[in-house]
Amino acid sequence: MASISRTLRPLSRTATASSRLLSARRTVSVRPLQCARTFVATPRRREADLSHLTPTPITLLSETEALMAEQVSKFAQEQIGPKVREMDEAETMDPTLVEQLFEQGIMGVEIPEEFGGAGMNFTAAIVAIEELARVDPSVSVMVDVHNTLVNTAFTKYGDANSQRLWLPKLATGTVGSFCLSEPVSGSDAFALQTKATKTANGYKINGSKMWITNAMESGIFIVFANLDPSKGYKGITAFVVEKGTPGFSIAKKEKKLGIRASSTCVLNFDDVEIPKENLLGEEGQGYKYAIGLLNEGRIGIAAQMTGLALGAWENAAGYVWNDRKQFGQLIGNFQGMQHQIAQAYTEISAARALVYNAARKKEAGQDFVQDAAMAKLYASQVAGRVAGSAVEWMGGMGFVREGIAEKMFRDSKIGAIYEGTSNIQLQTIAKNLQKAYTR
Ligand SMILES: Cc1cc2nc3c(=O)[nH]c(=O)nc-3n(C[C@H](O)[C@H](O)[C@H](O)COP(=O)(O)OP(=O)(O)OC[C@H]3O[C@@H](n4cnc5c(N)ncnc54)[C@H](O)[C@@H]3O)c2cc1C
Repeated sequence: MASISRTLRPLSRTATASSRLLSARRTVSVRPLQCARTFVATPRRREADLSHLTPTPITLLSETEALMAEQVSKFAQEQIGPKVREMDEAETMDPTLVEQLFEQGIMGVEIPEEFGGAGMNFTAAIVAIEELARVDPSVSVMVDVHNTLVNTAFTKYGDANSQRLWLPKLATGTVGSFCLSEPVSGSDAFALQTKATKTANGYKINGSKMWITNAMESGIFIVFANLDPSKGYKGITAFVVEKGTPGFSIAKKEKKLGIRASSTCVLNFDDVEIPKENLLGEEGQGYKYAIGLLNEGRIGIAAQMTGLALGAWENAAGYVWNDRKQFGQLIGNFQGMQHQIAQAYTEISAARALVYNAARKKEAGQDFVQDAAMAKLYASQVAGRVAGSAVEWMGGMGFVREGIAEKMFRDSKIGAIYEGTSNIQLQTIAKNLQKAYTR
C-alpha cells in the first residue's frame, strides 16, 4: 500500500489526474494556501494584515489538502470501515491499524520531512482527522491527539535536541499521549497535583494522571507536573516519560460510553526518574505550552465532530433514500424527513466552515483562540444533534448495534467534554467578546 504522505509530498507538487476525481462535496483550489481568506470573527482586535490576499471560499482546499482528504477517506473506508464494529465491541484499537496509520504518514502530518514526517500543513492534519471520523471517531481521536497535541508540542516548543530525539519516533512508529488532566483537576487543569523534583541527572515525577487518551498504545507521554508549587501554575513544567520507565504504570483502563476503541487510562508515577534531556522546552513554561496546544487541539476535535456528523448523516441518508420503504415509497421522499435531512446537512456545512476558518487563521498567524472555541463548541453540538437525528431517521435499524448509527450517537457525546467542556468554550468566547466590546 502506497504511503499517503509519500504520494502527497512535496507540498508544491502538481496534482495528478487522479487528484481531480474528488468527491462531489470537495472543490480543489489551485490557489496556494497563503491565498486562503481568513475571516475576522474577533472585532476590534488587531490582526495580522492579510489585506493583500485574494479572498476565496473558506472550504476551498489546496491540491495537497484535497488529495489528503481523498486518500485518507479511501484508506478509512477500505481499511478501517470493516473493523469499526469489532473494535468498538472489543473496546480495543487494532494494532495492525496503528501500524498502517504510521505507514501511511498520517501520524506525522506536520512533522518535518527531515525527521521522517510528511511535512504538511495544519489544515492537512485537520482534513485527515475529519475524514477518519467520518468512518471511526475512535481512530480519529488517536490520530488527532498524536498529531495536534503531541507532535506539535515538540515541533513548537522542543529544542533542536529534543526534536531530534523524539520526532523521528513519533513520525514512524511510536504513539504519543498528552497527560494534563488528573483526578483532582479537569476543567481547572492548572490545579494539577503531580510533582516534579530535580535530581543529580534530571527529574523525578510523582503523582497520577487521569483520562489519558492513547495510553494503551503510546510509547511517549508528555507529562505536566509542578516543579515549583510555590509559584502556583507558573511552576508547571512539561516532561517526556517513556513507556517502561521504572515507576510508571497504567493503573486502569476506563470503560466508556463512546469512542470505545480509543484507550483512556489512569496513569501512576511513583518516583519516576527521567534524564534532563526529557525536559520539554523550559522549566515553568508548561502552563503556556498546555494552553497553546489545547487551543490548536480544539480545532482537531471540532474536525473530528464535523466528520462524525457527516458520517452519521451519510449513513442515514443512504438508508432513507435507497433502502427503506414505508407507505409504498422510500421514507426519504417524505417532506417531513427531507426537511430534517437538509437542516442537518446545513448545520454540518456551517460547522465545517468554522473549523476551516479557525485552521486558516492559525496558519495565517492570526489570533484564532475564539475561533477554535466556537468551532469546537458548535461542531460538538451539531454532531450530537445530527447523530441523534440519524438514529431516528433509521427507526429501529438506527437503534441496534449493527451499523454505525448508534455508535456515532454514543461517540458524539465526548465532543462536549474533552479538550475543554462546552461551558469552558463558552467562557473563552464570552471573555474574548467582553474584552472586545468593553468601552
Ligand atoms: C474520553 C476522554 C479522553 C480524554 N483525554 C484526555 C487526554 O488525552 N489528556 C488529558 O489531559 N485529558 C483528557 N481528558 C480529560 C478532559 O479534558 C476532561 O474530562 C475535561 O477537561 C473535563 O474535566 P472533568 O472531567 O474533570 O470535568 P469537570 O471539570 O469536573 O466538569 C464537570 C462539569 O462542570 C462544568 N464546569 C467546570 N468548571 C466550570 C466553570 N468554571 N464554569 C462553568 N462550568 C464549569 C463543566 O463544564 C462540566 O459540565 C479526557 C477525557 C475523556 C472523558
